[in-house]
This record gives sequence, C-alpha cells and structure tokens, in this order.
Amino acid sequence: MQDVLIIGGGMAGASAAFFLAAGRQVTVLEAEAHCGMHTTGRSAALFIEGYGNVAIRAFTRASRQFFLEPPSGFCDVPLLTPRGTMSIGTAAQRPRLEALFAERVAESATAIEWLDPDASRSVIPILRPEYEASAFLDRSAMDIDVDTLHQGFLRGARRQGAQVVTNARVEAIERVGGAWTVTTTAGVFEAPVLVDAAGAWADQVAAMAGATPLGLVPKRRTAMLVETPPGINAKDWPGVIDADEMFYFKPSSGMLLLSPADETPSEPCDAQPEEIDIAIAVDRVQQAAALPVTHVSRSWAGLRSFFADKTPAVGWDPHVEGFFWLAGQGGYGIQTGPALGQLTAALVTGSDLPKPFLGEGADPSLLSPARFHGPRPT
Ligand SMILES: Cc1cc2nc3c(=O)[nH]c(=O)nc-3n(C[C@H](O)[C@H](O)[C@H](O)COP(=O)(O)OP(=O)(O)OC[C@H]3O[C@@H](n4cnc5c(N)ncnc54)[C@H](O)[C@@H]3O)c2cc1C
Repeated sequence: MQDVLIIGGGMAGASAAFFLAAGRQVTVLEAEAHCGMHTTGRSAALFIEGYGNVAIRAFTRASRQFFLEPPSGFCDVPLLTPRGTMSIGTAAQRPRLEALFAERVAESATAIEWLDPDASRSVIPILRPEYEASAFLDRSAMDIDVDTLHQGFLRGARRQGAQVVTNARVEAIERVGGAWTVTTTAGVFEAPVLVDAAGAWADQVAAMAGATPLGLVPKRRTAMLVETPPGINAKDWPGVIDADEMFYFKPSSGMLLLSPADETPSEPCDAQPEEIDIAIAVDRVQQAAALPVTHVSRSWAGLRSFFADKTPAVGWDPHVEGFFWLAGQGGYGIQTGPALGQLTAALVTGSDLPKPFLGEGADPSLLSPARFHGPRPT
C-alpha cells in the first residue's frame, strides 16, 4: 500500500509527486507511454506574471522562486530564459490595451513600457502600421524550458522513491475500508489518498471515484511553426500578443510559433489541429504583421481545461474522503506548476506553505474545490 496515488503524469501530477515524495510513498499512474503526451507536451512555454486572473497571477508569482532557483541537482540548464511579450492592438483596441497596461504597471512597473511607433517597429520590424501606435512591452515574460521542468519533477520524484507507472490507464476506483483501490491497465494499486491530476479527464476520474464533477471544460488550442521571413533574425523577438488574445506569435525552435488563441470546447481526447484554425491563425497574424506563410512546418493542438471561473481546483473534495483535486490549470499549468505542486504537498501532508506564498497573495482558499459546493445537507 502506498501513501498517495496520483492519477496523471503531466506537469500537475509530476510536480505534486516531486514535492510529496519528500515525505510520502507516492505512485504516479499515467495512462500513456509518455507522461508529457497530452497538454504538457503541447504548450507555448511562456511564463507571464501578468497573465490570467488574480489567483493565477498570485500562484505564478509564487512559482517564480522555484523557476529561478530550483533545488540543487534538479536540472543543469536554466528553467527560464528572457523572452518578453509585446501586447499590440489596432486603434479600436487601444482602450483595452491601455487598461491592460495600467493593470500590468500596477503589478510590475519596472518591467512594463509603452512603445511609440518607432520603438514598436524597431522591436518587431514586420509589424503593420495599424498596430504600431498601440503597443507595450513586458520585459519580465520568460520562455520556460517545459521538458526540463517536467523531467526534473519526474526524475526528482523517482530519486526520492516515487514510482512512475506508465501505460497505467485508470479504469475503476473504489473506496474500501478507508483506502482507495485503483484498477489500471498495469495492475491494481492502493492508498488512502488519491490525487486527481488527470488534466482534461479530471472530471471523469472524479466521477469514477464517486466525487461530483466540477464542470471542467477542455478547450482546444492550436499552434503551428512557420519559417521567419527571409533576411530577418527573429530569435530575440518578444512574444507578440493581440490585446484581445485573438492570436499570438513568438520565436520558437528557430521558427515562429503562431496560434489563433482558439478555445473550442472539446471532449477529453488526443486533440488534433483543424485546418480551419490553422488558416485563421495565419490570417489573423498576417493582418498584424507582414509575414509570408508558404508552408506550415508543424502544427498541433492541446486541451486547456477550465472550470467556469477560470481558476484551478486544488484541495480536498469536501464530500469524498481522501480525494484531492489538482485540476483546471487552463492555459497556465506550466507557469503555476511549481506552486501548485508545493500547495498540493502542503495540503495533503498538513504542513506549512512555503514562505513566498502569502507574500505573493497565493492564498489556498482561492483554489478550494469547496467553492463549487453548497453547504453539506444536514
Ligand atoms: C497551445 C497551448 C499553449 C499553452 N501555453 C501555455 C503557456 O505558455 N504557459 C503555461 O503555463 N501553460 C500553457 N498551456 C497550458 C498547460 O500546457 C497546461 O495547463 C498543463 O500542461 C496542464 O497539465 P496537466 O498535468 O494538468 O495536464 P496533462 O499534461 O494533460 O496531463 C494529464 C495526464 O493525465 C493522464 N490521464 C488522464 N486520464 C487518465 C486515467 N484514467 N488514468 C491514468 N492517467 C490519466 C493523461 O494521459 C495525461 O498525461 C498551454 C496549453 C496549450 C494547449
């Protein structure tokens, strides 16, 4: 019998395993042959402190220290490298952009700079004139080395004695005598605590365990890689994001990554890109930038899974003993990964939260699954 079973080996499950394994016997059960096969392996790899709602921003800030100073032996390359983001808009989007700018300045004045048209053009020389007058730069945004972070969590968990079992799809969950019996395609596992880190499948896993699903909606987002325009070195460009998040593009692997920032509701599945979303991405980016696209080198899609309030659920289910939610990370599960893993370990073991949490406003009650439930019937 283990102390904790974690269902899902993506960023959520891996980070929880890493922090829990320090004091508990942990087994991660992953359905696929590779832990990064679903959303974790399909992200845009950005760390943006000003992205998302108040809760997301607080838990992103609470993750910063881990990203900048991971424990010794965790990895041998930096987890974050400077990238920056440039938010842009047309004249019609200017009020929205100004509101975003004011919000970001209030949180991090030093890193944020409004750009005049000359400055915009010098940062992104292919920007069309309609977008040059409304733009600001956020120098604090970073690229995340997602694979190094994910593998660091899994390797570190194993070093502390955790098991990571792949090809172990959970098919049945039963609570017997104060412990969970979990039947998978790789055998039967038992533990008193179950952590649901099943990404897009989290509600389905909860239902298997007899917990009430919390209304998780997986939403497909598409990304693709295209060549940079001939003669242009885009390596150090910031990520460029539309004020209404209708598209973004950023340098990636010597090419440009484009996304239409789509959010199409989907069943949990191995998401695939649709031709129409690829065409929309190219069209939207070309309205903002002179970027000839003759060929899409690679395209993919992944599911960003949201609860109605766009805030993750991290905590004990209020009605089902031993069932812990770690779900609904939406489009922020990499940048919040370290903090949500630490929070999971603290709540499961009943230990104190790391010091930076409260200073950053990372209050666990913001993420409590109890917010979805009315009072327990008497
Ligand atoms: C295009 C795109 C861009 C993004 N950009 C960013 C970004 O820039 N920054 C950022 O922070 N985030 C970004 N995200 C979001 C981020 O990728 C996710 O929030 C994060 O990867 C979620 O991790 P997860 O572990 O919850 O889910 P997953 O990685 O999907 O892991 C869940 C795992 O559970 C397993 N599982 C499910 N059911 C079972 C079962 N029954 N038995 C066993 N295992 C099961 C699955 O196989 C899967 O491996 C982006 C996402 C997309 C799609």
